[in-house]
Amino acid sequence: MDAKLQELIHAVEPTVKKHRREIHAHPELGMQEVKTAALVQRELARIGVPYTANVGKMGVVGLINGEKPGPCIALRADMDALPIQETTGLPFASQEPGICHACGHDTHTAMLLGAAEVLWNIRHDLAGSVKLLFQPAEEMNPTGGMPFMIEDGILMNPTVDAAMALHVSSDIPTGSVGYRPGAMSASSNRFFITIKGKAAHGSAPDAGIDAIVTASQVIMGIQTIISRKVKALDSAVLTIGTIKGGDRYNVIAETVSMEGTCRTHNPQVTAMIPLLMEQIIKGICDASGCNYEFRFDSGYPAVVSDEKITTLVKDELVDMLGEERVIYIPTPRMGGEDFAFLAEKVPSTFIRIGCTAEGVTNPAPAHNGAFDPDEDCFVVGVKAYVAAAMSVLRELSSQK
Ligand SMILES: [Zn+2]
Ligand SMILES: [Zn+2]
Repeated sequence: MDAKLQELIHAVEPTVKKHRREIHAHPELGMQEVKTAALVQRELARIGVPYTANVGKMGVVGLINGEKPGPCIALRADMDALPIQETTGLPFASQEPGICHACGHDTHTAMLLGAAEVLWNIRHDLAGSVKLLFQPAEEMNPTGGMPFMIEDGILMNPTVDAAMALHVSSDIPTGSVGYRPGAMSASSNRFFITIKGKAAHGSAPDAGIDAIVTASQVIMGIQTIISRKVKALDSAVLTIGTIKGGDRYNVIAETVSMEGTCRTHNPQVTAMIPLLMEQIIKGICDASGCNYEFRFDSGYPAVVSDEKITTLVKDELVDMLGEERVIYIPTPRMGGEDFAFLAEKVPSTFIRIGCTAEGVTNPAPAHNGAFDPDEDCFVVGVKAYVAAAMSVLRELSSQK
């Protein structure tokens, strides 16, 4: 990487840290990102980047036009926090009870603002344009925030040719990044099961129909979909995350409600699972005399990283960080990510940014109140955004 670019990237590091701490202290849930979007707008205005606000409700879109015409790449950062109590004890910890940036989206927003400043400063060397997508509600499964932005026309004016997003990752050391062509995250779906029996005195089970016993059989039964129906080389997860039933210790429970999530990488497996679930639920309920309700909401599809775009960005990152710091991720994850909606429309790549400092063992993972990404990774995230923009614009414009 040339010395001037290196210098520009390192110059924004303190601002990235400052913004990240400010966003971190004032987290906002999906579609409520008022202060965060205001900070993004304030910062884009300071740099000089033209932007549009209220895209996809709370989103902000900046546009950097290069000196020469060429392709357009979209860089995405998510802005929302989670309904989780922070337990890091950091001096800039969340000031909102029960809400915190446990998924690191505060860092993504701050890093994209840093990259915006760098790319703005080198715009005379760019052929094409860079669209900066600050999106709301990444955690709002099953809809997510991305579809609202796509609906609002982010892929047009100018037409987006490729896209890139990143995510901090506690299982990769600070200084390194992870890439993977192909499936990167899982499709993420949510289901609801209600079992209805008949209440009776707890001493007379024969007089009632026990919804708790039936629900127990259903829970065990649907696990056989994963162990016996899904091919051994396809991966899938079925998790029941909540179960509520019964009112009193000595009454046969009449109703049990359960909610869960289903994750897969293969769309055919995703289509098959709800059918098998209903077969099992129906069979067990018929046998016990219970009624049931079952709903399966399809959520985010799997993020699939385009082979060509991923290779371009990876090669640029090797150039910037060195070969040993650019790690191939051998398997996709089971987490969901709404960038998938964009990756379905344009060739895209999703890069993981290592955020665990050397010597730290057992770091808290994302979605844990103690999640505390190492601030030294921010400069690497800025590099990843800049690398994506530079490599894709250079390569795609030479083909035009
Ligand atoms: Zn998350
Ligand atoms: Zn996230």
